[in-house]
Amino acid sequence: MTVYLNGAFVDRAAATVSVDDRGFLFGDGIYEVTRARDGALFEWERHLRRLDRGLAGVAIALAASVRDGLAEISERLLRENGLDSGDAIVYLQITRGVAPRTHYFPPPGTPPTVFLSASRLTVPDELRARGATAIAIPDIRWGRCDLKTVNLLPNVLAKQQAVAAGAFEAILVKDGVVTEGASSNVFVVKDGVLRTHPLGPHILAGVTRDVLFELVAELGLSANEAPVMAAELPGVSEVLVTATTADVMPIVRIDGRPVGDGRPGPVAGALHAALRTRMERQCARAGVR
Ligand code: PMP
Repeated sequence: MTVYLNGAFVDRAAATVSVDDRGFLFGDGIYEVTRARDGALFEWERHLRRLDRGLAGVAIALAASVRDGLAEISERLLRENGLDSGDAIVYLQITRGVAPRTHYFPPPGTPPTVFLSASRLTVPDELRARGATAIAIPDIRWGRCDLKTVNLLPNVLAKQQAVAAGAFEAILVKDGVVTEGASSNVFVVKDGVLRTHPLGPHILAGVTRDVLFELVAELGLSANEAPVMAAELPGVSEVLVTATTADVMPIVRIDGRPVGDGRPGPVAGALHAALRTRMERQCARAGVR
């Protein structure tokens, strides 16, 4: 596999980062995961906007020339790694760069470390057909979950707890409110209305979440951004999680108890189909350009 590191396309095995990299030492960096279909990036502009917000939020200065070249680098990685057909993802990480270890920032002008790689995505369609399971656990994360930082230790621990319990996702609960999943946004359907946690510092503004609101309007469904109490979960008809790598995934059991009738629901099904259609159309158009 060929990856991109600091201006060069190199073999993955030869791509190494300094032990003084602030990403390694402090988790001092921002990342993105972008979906690709048939070699074209899905919703790239949204990912780029979120990246811009994240970098600004942690004051990492990325040269405009590098930022503006990220889409082209991503597309080249897809091509060179034989990912120009089917489903793939592009991983992108930017750290505050390499400098002697101090908690405070390195001198201005320290170049950020820029890393991108592309890989095959196995879309979890079989699991989607059956419906996935989740556990609900306390959200122990910090106060800026809107920043997509590589500091993912609480998410890692939460996901591991889910996997150890045989579940797909950990649904995080803060002060009785469902915030999001360890690596997804969480929606419920109650009384026919979709609901998800409002944007703000407690959740990541998921690109899939964002797109879902547009699909909801197209499908004539209704949705709102309002807190979902964990105590409400036993009474909802559907729970679904959204993420770049999972699309729309119905959750059919939480902590062993069935959600609704314990089967994937119609709202999740309709939204997933609409998302796939949008992806096919958008990526086919991009391929023609
Ligand atoms: N929340 C968290 C904590 C995540 O890690 C992710 C996926 N990276 C999401 C939500 C979903 O975001 P997206 O739809 O942009 O993949």
